[in-house]
Amino acid sequence: MMNWKLAVAVLVLAIFITGVLVVPGSAQDSIISDYPELKPLVDFVGEEELSVMDLVGCKAAEKAMEELGFSKGDPNILALTDAGYIANIGKYSSERALNGVMMTAGVSRGKGNLVNVHRAYNKPLWFAFFDKETGDCVYLEVNKSYLKPWLDKEAAGTVNLSEFMGVGADALFSKISRENIDPDKLITEEGAKAWHHNFDEKTFGGNEFSILTISAVWSKGINNEFLKSAELHNHICPGLTSGYFIAEYLREHYPLEKGEKWIVWAVPPWCKDDALQQIFDATVGKRCMAVMYIPDSTSEKLPPEYRNIAGIYVKIGKTGEAKAIVLGWDWNKACSDCGFTRKDFKDFSSYKWWWTRLRADVVLMEHKPEEYISVLMVKDLGNQGSVKAMNARWMAVGANPLVELGIMPAPGATATPVSTPAEVTPSIPGLCVIAAIAIAGVVVYAARRRKKI
Ligand SMILES: [Zn+2]
Repeated sequence: MMNWKLAVAVLVLAIFITGVLVVPGSAQDSIISDYPELKPLVDFVGEEELSVMDLVGCKAAEKAMEELGFSKGDPNILALTDAGYIANIGKYSSERALNGVMMTAGVSRGKGNLVNVHRAYNKPLWFAFFDKETGDCVYLEVNKSYLKPWLDKEAAGTVNLSEFMGVGADALFSKISRENIDPDKLITEEGAKAWHHNFDEKTFGGNEFSILTISAVWSKGINNEFLKSAELHNHICPGLTSGYFIAEYLREHYPLEKGEKWIVWAVPPWCKDDALQQIFDATVGKRCMAVMYIPDSTSEKLPPEYRNIAGIYVKIGKTGEAKAIVLGWDWNKACSDCGFTRKDFKDFSSYKWWWTRLRADVVLMEHKPEEYISVLMVKDLGNQGSVKAMNARWMAVGANPLVELGIMPAPGATATPVSTPAEVTPSIPGLCVIAAIAIAGVVVYAARRRKKI
């Protein structure tokens, strides 16, 4: 018969041995034992949650760090990617790649050196890393057909992440390219000419304009509002800059009181309106933006000072009291300050289309909104009831806010339009429409009565 003391000793020994064997066993299960550099990422997302897409971001950052020779947390580095916003790989979304980029390269939205560039869901997934010290930039585009089977395996629960970590960058990325994009060189005409072949060759997968312009303005110092606008718009152009300047101008000269907000009538729309949607939260869906084009035939009828019209900005309060501010934007002055002509913008057959935009992006940052913005009209619109009612009245199909505001004559009218910036007395544009409907109603009613008789 076994002594009970011996039995306990054997049991204790057994537990001890099992413990010793089990502990290293579970450590071997962790991907960190094979890839210790993954520890910050694993700590951040949790071992159970670690996914192929987390590792895609990590591998993009690792390759860029090797190529550019930077270490984690280097403040000279800007990372740009469309991961999660919203480039997909088939049915798989890509936002988790941001975790890998952040935790490997030490960049983040909070630090202002991770730019999430907006792209449509069916666009390629890409990453770019720019070093503002050297001007060098590395671009990596994911090989969709290579990555998709890995994501399929993950969805089926059969993926081996350690095996995925062994994948070479050349297999995972269909394009890895490196170019110098030093903005100080590229804003010169000679520098732009020399770089232009990269646009033809799509060195950055067709994302050259996005990467060049955002990196350039970022390297000169960009604030968060403008950076968020650039994310939505997916590039920076002087059109976007004009929207950022208009936002700054309205905020400075017409500050919002409690309960007030901006309704943007984009008449006509251009890149600026993406900045206004972002900064004012003036989105189309929330009815805070309405868009109307000005065809050339109409533009010709505008008084000269209104040919620079940028838009109508309506400040509306909780009770429906509204005021319209019509602003102009001086493209001729902007172009002349940047050292080129307005028609250079439209030269898409050479380097000029992108050089002018990039140059203006950088040059305009040293100027003030007041240098280009003019107040064409300030008009009290009285009580408009609600935003929906106001937009339905002024920006409805068939309406013409330029006529209603007195900026241009109504078709067939000979009255001289208002052409000087001024406080104009309130008018009720809907009144004419209501009167017309009422008259039509009476006529129809009378006609029916006559038929009956
Ligand atoms: Zn633009």
